[in-house]
Amino acid sequence: MTDLVETARARFTELYGRAPQGIWSAPGRVNLIGEHTDYNDGFVFLFAIDRRTVAALALRDDRTVRLTSSFTDEIVETTLADLGPGGAHGWQNYPLGVAWALSQSGLGQLGADLDAVPGFDLYLDSDVPVGAGLSSSAAIESAVAVALNDVWRLDLDRNALVKAGHIAENEVVGAPTGILDQSASLLGRLDCGIFIDCRSLERDVIPLGFDEAGLEVLVMDTKVEHEHAAGGYAARRASCEAGARELGVESLREVSISDLPRAREVLDGETFRRVRHVVTENQRVLDTVRTLREQGPRAIGDLMDASHRSLRDDFEVSVPQLDLAVEISQNYGAIGARMTGGGFGGSAIALVPRELISHVEAAVDGAFAEHGYAQPDLFAVVPSDGARRDE
Ligand code: ADP
Ligand code: MG
Repeated sequence: MTDLVETARARFTELYGRAPQGIWSAPGRVNLIGEHTDYNDGFVFLFAIDRRTVAALALRDDRTVRLTSSFTDEIVETTLADLGPGGAHGWQNYPLGVAWALSQSGLGQLGADLDAVPGFDLYLDSDVPVGAGLSSSAAIESAVAVALNDVWRLDLDRNALVKAGHIAENEVVGAPTGILDQSASLLGRLDCGIFIDCRSLERDVIPLGFDEAGLEVLVMDTKVEHEHAAGGYAARRASCEAGARELGVESLREVSISDLPRAREVLDGETFRRVRHVVTENQRVLDTVRTLREQGPRAIGDLMDASHRSLRDDFEVSVPQLDLAVEISQNYGAIGARMTGGGFGGSAIALVPRELISHVEAAVDGAFAEHGYAQPDLFAVVPSDGARRDE
């Protein structure tokens, strides 16, 4: 982390010929439990990780905005007047989208008057892997949001910054996503998870106790990218909507475990299984939070395992590589394991005693080789602090 901050300072100075005014950073995130529950008004429980995007920034005395990143050789140059939807495409839409969202044009009266604030020079660096399901996009949005909130003296609270990232991603980048990732990146706390009620948007910071229990989370990126991921996701959403309609409720959030026998009578077999996943997953999120409080983190493994079985058998969004990563990690000492993210590829996670991490890694690597699967990317993460000013 210090390395990233130091490198960003040095690169900024080299590129722009002066020192940055400050350096800010924000983490990626992992979803601990609660999959495909968000668009059903349900519960999600995720945490910020110790992989971060840093933003080195200095204000200018004109209205120009210049930005670049360790990801690219280009320096993008624009002006505050040219921000907003329908502009350029590419990586710069994440930071520029946040700048726009923080302005009046983006968020109503939320933040800066773009006519009144100065432009800036920005340099980004990151050790959040891109496209591994760890939300490098929320990390970049949140790092830029806290930076601009400081230098533009907007004095916005973290909820407003969550909104800014959400608006940037939806309206400027054009990716229809919720507020979960930005919430974790901005509200995360060391060794804590963020519980989110997607209906009320209430958020709670819940101690995980992983550190004291000697636990880390092994991320197992299968590198599988499925061509039907988008279609599969849309089909699952449609099944959930159809299930809710047939059961006469606004969303599956309103269906509880005790309603399932009736649901089985009313729904066709496939829709029933989709509904059963969402209903039981919501309950598992609540049970995870309660179990953490009452029994500690070593007791939540069964809930993670059950989440994976439900995603595999009822929601049918797993792939053989995810199943293998989960199974091998369980066999080699994980307390619990599950696929994480939307499925059809991507990553699985395993809750593993610190001293067994390399043992589990070797076992998963070996099993993937044996099956002729591409080598997975394996790395441990710990629940970490959200966005902050580093210097
Ligand atoms: P993820 O699951 O990692 O969030 P996304 O597709 O939502 O995947 O976001 C990844 C995109 O975010 C990248 O393609 C790139 O455009 C942008 N991005 C992320 N981190 C950086 C960075 N440090 N510098 C420039 N662009 C970045
Ligand atoms: Mg993303």
